[in-house]
Amino acid sequence: MLLNLYKIRKITICCNAEVNFMLKRHFSNNVTKHYDIVIAGGGMVGTTLACTLGKNKKLTEKKILLLEASKNKPWTLPEKYSNRVVSLNPGTRTLLNSIGAWKNIEKSRFATVKRLQVWDALSDTTITFGQPELTETVSYIVENDLLLSAVAEETKNCQNVTIQYDARVKEYTLPEYSEKNVKIQLENGDEYTCDLLLGCDGVNSSVRKAMQADYLSWSYHQMGVVATLKLSEPIKNEIAWQRFLPTGPVALLPLTDDMSSLVWSTTVQEAKRLLGLSDEEFVDELNRAIYGTFSRSSLVLQATSAFDTFLRFLNCGVDEMRQFPPKIKTIETGSRAGFPLGFGHSSQYIGKGVALVGDAAHRIHPLAGQGVNLGFGDVTCLNDILGKAVYSGSTINDLGYLREYESERQKHNVTTMAAIEGLHRLYTTDLTPVVLLRSLGLQFTHALAPLKRAIVTQASN
Ligand SMILES: Cc1cc2nc3c(=O)[nH]c(=O)nc-3n(C[C@H](O)[C@H](O)[C@H](O)COP(=O)(O)OP(=O)(O)OC[C@H]3O[C@@H](n4cnc5c(N)ncnc54)[C@H](O)[C@@H]3O)c2cc1C
Repeated sequence: MLLNLYKIRKITICCNAEVNFMLKRHFSNNVTKHYDIVIAGGGMVGTTLACTLGKNKKLTEKKILLLEASKNKPWTLPEKYSNRVVSLNPGTRTLLNSIGAWKNIEKSRFATVKRLQVWDALSDTTITFGQPELTETVSYIVENDLLLSAVAEETKNCQNVTIQYDARVKEYTLPEYSEKNVKIQLENGDEYTCDLLLGCDGVNSSVRKAMQADYLSWSYHQMGVVATLKLSEPIKNEIAWQRFLPTGPVALLPLTDDMSSLVWSTTVQEAKRLLGLSDEEFVDELNRAIYGTFSRSSLVLQATSAFDTFLRFLNCGVDEMRQFPPKIKTIETGSRAGFPLGFGHSSQYIGKGVALVGDAAHRIHPLAGQGVNLGFGDVTCLNDILGKAVYSGSTINDLGYLREYESERQKHNVTTMAAIEGLHRLYTTDLTPVVLLRSLGLQFTHALAPLKRAIVTQASN
């Protein structure tokens, strides 16, 4: 009897919810529309996902809606470089090329990195990636806004994709039990339903929160200080430089022959101090960070020197010339900014009718320039799997296929994130035994070409 009463009450609640939803549908101006796929968040990852799915021939019948909270501002290439750039790996370039967006970047501007030189301020041990003859491209430096606009431009050619800007989502109702659709309510009152919701809404993802996914996260208590730099003289600017300081890595990414972009990760306190300096003082500090000497342990210096001799004796490729980074002359006024850095990983990427993509699922330290590349890797994988699901006659939200996406991406992302996290921990200490171990490790890795190739392959996909 009690059970029956409970059942009746439950049905009444469900009915009330259904009736409320239908009443809203009939009596408000905001009519609920249904889409096969709704993508929440039109950042670099969400917009690229919309374009990629829109261009997938197996998905031409699927109606796709992209919702982005910010306004659609007309964008033209500014004369000045933006202080927000990303280093894109060859896998990302292949993706952007396949959807036709790379040509839009190519006709605007980008820089190629032919070599990466990384060294330790506490031992001067160095590792390089890329051919010594600078024949092969390691990565591409592109401004975030340019990338976004290049992809958005291409998305206009996708008949089945609608983009709604100025559309902040207020609430997601994910399907439970026998319900099939996801319900989405915008702050402006518009409502949508869809078969599959793709959360590309960044680090503080509301989609992830609606999934009630377990999220492992912490702050690095660091900020990434960015700026646009003018070099003291024009050079063949094809090398990306990164020096590990005890407070965090400082990196220079090429833009033009006489300009580079800065990403300087440091403690929050130090970042605030750097942001408060005059341009001239900041440039002095930066040159010191790149060239200055730090107190070093004689044990570390002796051990690394002996190991170097040993590697040379074995003829293990340590003869590659170490080059000197460019000196900085000035910074673009007003280009300095700081961003908090943190780690985050969602233990679930999928649920009933929902999947997470990009920073919504994972966030890492920028020291390896991999954050958005992992997101683009998610896009490529999800696009293939959704195409396969529909081609084989399954539904777009088939949990079996979504699970395949989750396991494939977690395998790759967790491995990459663990390696980056390990590097971060290894380099944010000045304890002599750790400095010694990491310096010998760096020398060993630098000498072993197959190991370096394996690292590049993992970072390129
Ligand atoms: C200093 C720094 C340097 C970096 N350098 C590199 C690099 O060299 N290489 C690299 O690969 N990565 C780099 N990264 C990481 C990279 O910037 C991020 O991985 C990337 O921006 C994530 O893109 P996203 O589209 O997933 O998320 P976001 O860029 O956060 O986009 C999320 C979008 O969702 C929208 N949104 C949020 N909530 C809602 C809502 N309720 N309704 C509607 N829309 C919503 C937002 O408006 C936003 O447009 C760097 C990061 C930092 C901080």
